[in-house]
Amino acid sequence: MNYQEKDPALWDAIHHEEQRQEDTIELIASENIVSAAVRAAQGSVLTNKYAEGYPGKRYYGGTQYIDVVEQLAIDRAKQLFGAEYANVQPHSGSQANQAVYAAFLKPGDTILGMGLDSGGHLTHGAKVNFSGKLYRTFSYGLDPQTERLDYDAIRQQALDVKPQLIVAGASAYSRIIDWQAFRRIADEVGAYLMVDMAHIAGLVAVGLHPSPVGIADVVTTTTHKTLRGPRGGLILSQEKYAKRLNSAVFPGTQGGPLEHVIAGKAAAFFEDLQPDFKIYGQQIIDNAHAMAAAFKEAPKVRVVSGGTDNHLMTLDLSQTTLNGKQAQDLLDSVMITTNKESIPNETLSPFKTSGIRLGTPAITTRGFNAAESREVAELIVKTVLNPTDDAILNDVRARVHALTQAHPLTALQ
Ligand code: PLP
Repeated sequence: MNYQEKDPALWDAIHHEEQRQEDTIELIASENIVSAAVRAAQGSVLTNKYAEGYPGKRYYGGTQYIDVVEQLAIDRAKQLFGAEYANVQPHSGSQANQAVYAAFLKPGDTILGMGLDSGGHLTHGAKVNFSGKLYRTFSYGLDPQTERLDYDAIRQQALDVKPQLIVAGASAYSRIIDWQAFRRIADEVGAYLMVDMAHIAGLVAVGLHPSPVGIADVVTTTTHKTLRGPRGGLILSQEKYAKRLNSAVFPGTQGGPLEHVIAGKAAAFFEDLQPDFKIYGQQIIDNAHAMAAAFKEAPKVRVVSGGTDNHLMTLDLSQTTLNGKQAQDLLDSVMITTNKESIPNETLSPFKTSGIRLGTPAITTRGFNAAESREVAELIVKTVLNPTDDAILNDVRARVHALTQAHPLTALQ
């Protein structure tokens, strides 16, 4: 009996998830589909190894090959982003942010970050998160007219609340972010500047979004979104902050590093450094533009801020009969995966919301082109405008099936 036959409860669920991924159009902006190399590295025997410490300075024996792997990940991350310093050990984006706060702040210090309801992340100061509990946090939002960052308003707020650290970066913001504007504000109020580029790191790596590296004091990211690596975190900074950042990660906030995941990061950074990753990044943006253009021609749906410069957009559904949660569930039923999302000036609770967030990294990995992305947007419009019309919903299901069959996951390497 093999391990799958011995434990069918687990393996049936894993096989069903494989099939779900094969059969659905994945539009969650923070997700992607990793290569066979990333999966193999992550599923390797490195999962067996303890290696507290850093390459060349470990608390355990037998780490000679682990050191090679971690150093490769560090060197590749530095090369990819032109950074002086990289720490590849954070288990997640949240833990990368936690370590940075621990390195630069004392509990009770003040953080100014983007509000959750405007597109910021929980770890940027939300009251339900450790960041909002340990630190004194204030949030900035978007200009209600343009639905874009208003740097004059952020500057005024920074002058008022005098933060020790400003966080730039977002989970749901579709426009280019002006890092220099944030730098000027941070300098004026004497704050550190942290950029959390988790969503756009893959675009930054290939020059399709301006890089915050060298502008911010410290940059954090996840490795699993547009970077297309394993789930995990990464910190980039300058050599002068190396000591305090290293000790904030270990022993400050983590124990043994996940070296199998770090191997997956090294495999992903290798891929990200190849010339075709830039072609991939451009296609992500082209596909997002094609979707936004289709939405702009459709009745009753509206793209927040009128379009996108990156891999994602928020679709305002407040003129339809559905809230964000209902749209997410309905789209699930036609095999299109999205997530509900608050719109600027949201009136509904975070459990309902008035919008959905859509991103193109995963469908682009799968091979969807701009025309197919446009069709995906048209299918979404058909679905949300006809939530009770079974004939139309069945048509959508048939088109989703044709599109996913045309781009099988098994064809990816
Ligand atoms: N930072 C941003 C901007 C994010 O969007 C996310 C995840 O969605 C994170 C941090 C946290 O990453 P993780 O889920 O790995 O903790």
